[in-house]
Amino acid sequence: MKTVYSPLHLSHAHAHEFEGGQLIAAKDVPARAELVLDAIRGRGIGPVLAPQHFGNVPILRVHTAEFIHVLEQAWARWVGKHGYDNREAFPSAWPARGMAPKHIEDIEAALGYYAFDTATPIVAGTWTAARHAADCALTAAEFVLHGERAAFALCRPPGHHAAGDTYGGYCFLNNAAIAAQHLTDRGRRVAILDVDMHHGNGTQAIFYGRDDVLTVSLHGDPATYYPHFSGFTDETGEGAGEGFNLNLPLPANTLWPAYAQAIEVAAERIRAFAPDTLVVPLGVDTVVDDPAGGFRLEGADYTRLGVALAKLKLPTLFTMEGGYRLDTLGPAVADVLTGFEGA
Ligand SMILES: [Zn+2]
Repeated sequence: MKTVYSPLHLSHAHAHEFEGGQLIAAKDVPARAELVLDAIRGRGIGPVLAPQHFGNVPILRVHTAEFIHVLEQAWARWVGKHGYDNREAFPSAWPARGMAPKHIEDIEAALGYYAFDTATPIVAGTWTAARHAADCALTAAEFVLHGERAAFALCRPPGHHAAGDTYGGYCFLNNAAIAAQHLTDRGRRVAILDVDMHHGNGTQAIFYGRDDVLTVSLHGDPATYYPHFSGFTDETGEGAGEGFNLNLPLPANTLWPAYAQAIEVAAERIRAFAPDTLVVPLGVDTVVDDPAGGFRLEGADYTRLGVALAKLKLPTLFTMEGGYRLDTLGPAVADVLTGFEGA
C-alpha cells in the first residue's frame, strides 16, 4: 500500500491548546506523524511518496473561498495586529446567539467567526502544513482512481472536524472530504466511514444535504465527548441528503465486541448504498488511555478493524485523523493497514 506524506507538516508546530479552561501542552504534536511514518517503514507496508500539488480548485469544492483566504492570511494578520510572532493565534470571542457577525475584517473577529474551539491554534506554518495535508489526500485519491486497492494519506494536521467554513478539533482543511469530492468529481460513488474516536462533524456538515456521498461515523457519544454539538443519532441528513448520514455513537469504555457490532451496522448501510470507493478517516484515539479518547480498543483490535474494513471489498483511501497516545499510535495505524492488506 502506498503512503503519501509530506515533511512540511512539521511547520505546524505549536506548544499549547486550551482544555478545561487551562493552557495545556498541545496534543497534535509533529512527532505524531513521524511515529506513524516510522511504523509504516518499519513494517514494510509500502513506498512512502511525496504529494503532488493540486492547487486550490479541489479544495474550493468543499471549502469557501473566504475561509481559505482567512486561513492563508491568518498568521500574518495576527502578527500584524499584535506585533509578536512567538504566540499561537487563538480566538478570544465568538458570535454566540443574539450577536451578529457583520464585520469580520479584524483578525480577532475572523478567528472567532471561523473557529469553533480553543484547541486549534494557528502558527506561522499552519497553512503550509494544511495545504500539503490536503495534497496528500488528493494524491492518495489519484492512486485509488488509477486502480490501487488502497492508499494511505498520512495527513497532519488532520481534517475531519473542519467543515466548509469552520475549523477546530486540530483540523483546518477536511482532507477526507476534499478527497471524497475529488473522487466523486471523477465519477466514483463514495461512502465515508469515519472510525476516529470523535464525530466527524465537518465531514457530516459538508455532505449533509447530498445523496451522492454517504457519510457514516462511529464515535464517542457527543452527550459526553467532543465535539458535543454534533454526532447524535437523529442527524440523518437533510433535503436530498435525508437518510445519507448515519451516526453510531458509542459509550465510554467501549471494547472491541461492541465496536465490531457497530462496524457491522455501518457496513450494512454502506453495502445498501452500493458505493464503488470507500474513504476511511482513520483515527486511533479509540485506544485505551488515549489522552483525547474514551474507548478501550487495544493491540490486535486494530488488526481486526483493518480486516473488517477490507470485508467491504472496496478500493479504499485512508486519511490520518486522531491518535494521541504516542506509544501506541504508530503500531495501531500499521496494524489497521496490515490487517486490511492481509485480509
Ligand atoms: Zn479524534
